[in-house]
Amino acid sequence: MPRTAPLRTDCSQCAALCCLALAFDKGRDFAFDKNPGEPCRNLSGYDCAIHDDLTERGMKGCVAYDCLGAGNRVVQEVFDGRSWQTEPRLTRVMIEAFAAMREVHKRIDLLRAAGAFELDPRDDQTRRSLLAQLETRRWSGPELNEFEVGLALEVDLFAHAIRDRLPEDFFEDR
Ligand code: SF4
Repeated sequence: MPRTAPLRTDCSQCAALCCLALAFDKGRDFAFDKNPGEPCRNLSGYDCAIHDDLTERGMKGCVAYDCLGAGNRVVQEVFDGRSWQTEPRLTRVMIEAFAAMREVHKRIDLLRAAGAFELDPRDDQTRRSLLAQLETRRWSGPELNEFEVGLALEVDLFAHAIRDRLPEDFFEDR
């Protein structure tokens, strides 16, 4: 499925939110442990100092990760290009907004993908309506905080209701 805005990941418009917010454990995919909210030791400004050697340096989990455009959208849309690095007091709220926006984009991805399968006309109308609400909204921090107990729940219930129309592995990597 081609990814159109707003699911286009653009690290140049982000503030390295994944390298700050996410946790990982030393093992097959990562060479060391990192706690959530701890800037990665390889972060140099907004760049990864080992970007060209991630796999060789035991960090193939970083290569595989895609925020689905959530990071750049949070920085540009919710925080108008500001960053936790120049305004450390934004660190916590940016991490929270990033987590919520990832959930928004996962649902957009799911609803777009579901459109490739034959749904009842009413279900497809519901799918389009939910998708439009997610795609066209310009999110604020407080709205993102409410997302998981509001619209996300609606999308999840809808996805559950149409699961018989989708392939068995549809939800596996979502
Ligand atoms: S190794 Fe590089 S890409 Fe991976 S979390 Fe650290 S800074 Fe980010």
